[in-house]
Amino acid sequence: MIKERCITCIICPKGCRISISQIDGELTIDGYQCSRGNDYARQVVEFPVQMLTTTVSASHDHHIRIPVKTTREIPVNTIKEAMRKIRAVRIALPVRIGEVIVENLLDLDVDVIATDSVTPHNWRNHES
Ligand code: SF4
Repeated sequence: MIKERCITCIICPKGCRISISQIDGELTIDGYQCSRGNDYARQVVEFPVQMLTTTVSASHDHHIRIPVKTTREIPVNTIKEAMRKIRAVRIALPVRIGEVIVENLLDLDVDVIATDSVTPHNWRNHES
């Protein structure tokens, strides 16, 4: 089976385009300009991670949503459990941008923070 994809290396500002192909499980990586890019591409394939962005509910009204994100990427295989945890959160307004909403999500050493300020006066901008 052949799997191919292209990624942009995010390790340094050069942003090399790296092609990754897997033919019968054998990995071929091209396009990187240094070993860090090669390591990054391997990590993308072997331990996929992604940023999680979502919303949480205000405690007094679940229609009011507060936009949040993880402070860094988390393993893709933890996303479902992370969403379950975040969905259960209720936050009292006001919330300030950067405020920690969930500390140490799933013991991943990652916090969930608000990406905007939401007050009782501007919450209409954040309705679901
Ligand atoms: S492959 Fe190397 S040079 Fe290219 S973006 Fe990644 S770290 Fe930078």
